[in-house]
Amino acid sequence: MLTLAALVTALLVAGALLVPWHRPPAPRADQLAALREFPVDQVARGREFRAALRPGAYGALLLGLLVALLLGLTPLGARLVELAGRPFGDHWIARAVLGGLAVVLVADLLTLPFAAWRQAVLTRYGLSTHGWSGWTVDLLKSYAVSAVIGAVALLGFYTVTRLAPRWWWAFGAAGAAGLVVLLSFVLPVLVEPVFNRFTPMEQGPLRTELMAMAARDGVPVRDVLVADASRRTKAVNAYVSGLGPTRRVVVYDTLLREATPAEVTSVVAHELGHARDRDVAVGTLTGALGAAAVVVALYLLGSWGPLTRLAGVDSVAEPRAFGLLIALVTVAGLVAAPVQAAVSRRVEARADAHALALTGDPATFEAMQRRLAGVNLADPDPPRWEYLWSASHPSTVERMAAARAYAREAGR
Ligand SMILES: [Zn+2]
Repeated sequence: MLTLAALVTALLVAGALLVPWHRPPAPRADQLAALREFPVDQVARGREFRAALRPGAYGALLLGLLVALLLGLTPLGARLVELAGRPFGDHWIARAVLGGLAVVLVADLLTLPFAAWRQAVLTRYGLSTHGWSGWTVDLLKSYAVSAVIGAVALLGFYTVTRLAPRWWWAFGAAGAAGLVVLLSFVLPVLVEPVFNRFTPMEQGPLRTELMAMAARDGVPVRDVLVADASRRTKAVNAYVSGLGPTRRVVVYDTLLREATPAEVTSVVAHELGHARDRDVAVGTLTGALGAAAVVVALYLLGSWGPLTRLAGVDSVAEPRAFGLLIALVTVAGLVAAPVQAAVSRRVEARADAHALALTGDPATFEAMQRRLAGVNLADPDPPRWEYLWSASHPSTVERMAAARAYAREAGR
């Protein structure tokens, strides 16, 4: 209990210190003015597209929750784990790894129709370019990657619960935190290449300009990488990932095709903001603290008799209780989603402010936001409830309004 309190306090302190609570101004009047400048049919099409995605997205959420609760709060999950271990003489490793993966697979397979729904909508609106075969290959790849990472985590976790039946929560918390940090380092070099090919941006004026900007900004960037996203999507994007030696700035090839060089510069300036403020490192750190807190909370909740009785298990530390763990983690994830989204929006607004200050070019920044919304079929001013629930970035009109406020401030 004390450990959980300490971890939660550490999380809150990290949040208070590291989240940029002050948000650069983006007056609503500017937002509405920006919205009026959008072609009416473009806004209508964006809203239609988002509405078409909604039933699948929320259906998957709801079904995922129901399945998790069914496997966790009834003996069904325990039975599934037993079943997976049976061909191997009920060996604990088979139960831990195969049983755990079976629980996850059941949830994945049941929500598969919703994933297909999403792909059908993306295809209908012309955003997806890789067809059903490409989609299936990507899906199988992501199952394979999750299975490998999941098997390692399951084996590690249940080895610890066996070796240290009284102290597993302490080792488990440390292990979960360590895994989050490790994944931050290795995902960009081991997992991202499974889905995309990355090539250094070709020599030329744009690359020279970007590297010069990074140097001016004091951010060490070895390279700007281009991802071949066009084989899957028409959407444009860029991101930073990795830590230390694996840190990289990645732009989609679709962005280079769609946007002007000045707009690409604006996007990369935003990504440099993330690098400068160490957003990936801070995100990894809070993720590690959060993972540790989750393990301790699972231990405390899992010692609660009524829950283990519902799941038909003796202890939350046994492989048969994996369904219960998934149910608790799923509920916690749903509760945490709006908080994570709110923090993410503030971090993104700070990166936007950095891009504006670094380029000193709010007009291009605004043009880029308009283009992003157009190509990605965004709703420039999405419904408030959806924004609060899930938006990881400020809305398009917010970002444009921030650029206008910056321009006014700079013009003074
Ligand atoms: Zn960003």
